[in-house]
Amino acid sequence: MLTTHRFRLYPSKKQEEKLLWTLDQCRQTYNTLLSELQEQKVIDKAQIQGLLPDMKICDPELNKVYSKTLQYECYRLFSNLRALSQSKKNKRKVGRLRFKGKGWFKTFTYNQSGFKLINIGKRCQTLHLSKIGKIPIRCHRNVKGKIKQITIKKEVSGKWFASIIEEKNEEIKKAQIKKVIGIDLGLTDFIFDSDGMKVPNPRHLKKHTEKLVRLQRKLSKKKIGSENRNKWRIRLARQYEKLVNTRDDFLHKASRYYVNNYDAIAMEDMPIINMVHNKYLSKSILDASWGKLRQMISYKAERAGKRFMPVNYRGTTQRCSNCCKVIKKDLSMRTHKCNYCGLITSRDHNSALEIKNLMLIEIGQELSESTLVEIEALPLTRQLPSMKQEAPCES
Ligand SMILES: [Zn+2]
Repeated sequence: MLTTHRFRLYPSKKQEEKLLWTLDQCRQTYNTLLSELQEQKVIDKAQIQGLLPDMKICDPELNKVYSKTLQYECYRLFSNLRALSQSKKNKRKVGRLRFKGKGWFKTFTYNQSGFKLINIGKRCQTLHLSKIGKIPIRCHRNVKGKIKQITIKKEVSGKWFASIIEEKNEEIKKAQIKKVIGIDLGLTDFIFDSDGMKVPNPRHLKKHTEKLVRLQRKLSKKKIGSENRNKWRIRLARQYEKLVNTRDDFLHKASRYYVNNYDAIAMEDMPIINMVHNKYLSKSILDASWGKLRQMISYKAERAGKRFMPVNYRGTTQRCSNCCKVIKKDLSMRTHKCNYCGLITSRDHNSALEIKNLMLIEIGQELSESTLVEIEALPLTRQLPSMKQEAPCES
């Protein structure tokens, strides 16, 4: 199992120069490989890979970069190419791969070798990178498994980070499914779950977001390319970093709560909300927070041997979680009141229950002589609406 850690690096002035220099050598290597790729009529990966030794002969300075780090740029190029053709297949409008200008290249990578994490006392560690040196690093978590890859990144705020991919060979025991929960994500309440618990949108997150919106507005008025604009850009990046830290802290706690207390967790795959009256930025921040929560619950659940299941969000607000009839509600209607079975509850609670139902059906189908059935009666069969339109379901 692979786990990624992100730790902050504290390079000296001299080391930072070296890091920046390495970053730029990688950028130039990427660009050279890309220009060769664009010359090719038929893509020949081996030929592109074979360019590196020649490039080193032409420019001996390249020997001061760890060789596998340069090779990684070739890998990066082809993985970008793959992503591009994938988007084309999905009929998205895409251009071609672009050359990376200064400032658009933020990471370089050590794969499999060329690095070592060294303990020099309690909570005091250095990261040795071949051809760069020993950089102080703050590891807030123990890394005991085998390190597969380290990516060095410079954030816009000026801080340096190392993303460490660790491989652990622990056997994970699958938890028996006894407690299940459905989670609805929303605007008024960040989380509303099928057990009726709600978690409002954290206020400090809102405060940070508002500050960010103000900074962004100010930045947009500064002259492009000016020193002043750059200052504001860094200020904005720092504010964003603060927001991300606060948000992630909140999301870690929330995801931990669900993984510790439940064996199977269902969430909608893509919440829809009316964002007309909201500023673009706060929408994207909220979107990102939802995505991140899903991601955190998913990997924490996997590590704990528990189930995480994204379910089709379509229809979850409109269907009655008790009798499956469609109860039309517009966005202003916060209560679910079913005329068929008499269920009255909040709109979000009904969604959460419905999300849980969808998971129960799926798990129930997987285990026919289900242990689950002993715990909860399976809900009525639902005919899921197609992606295009919401069809009413049969009871
Ligand atoms: Zn009903």
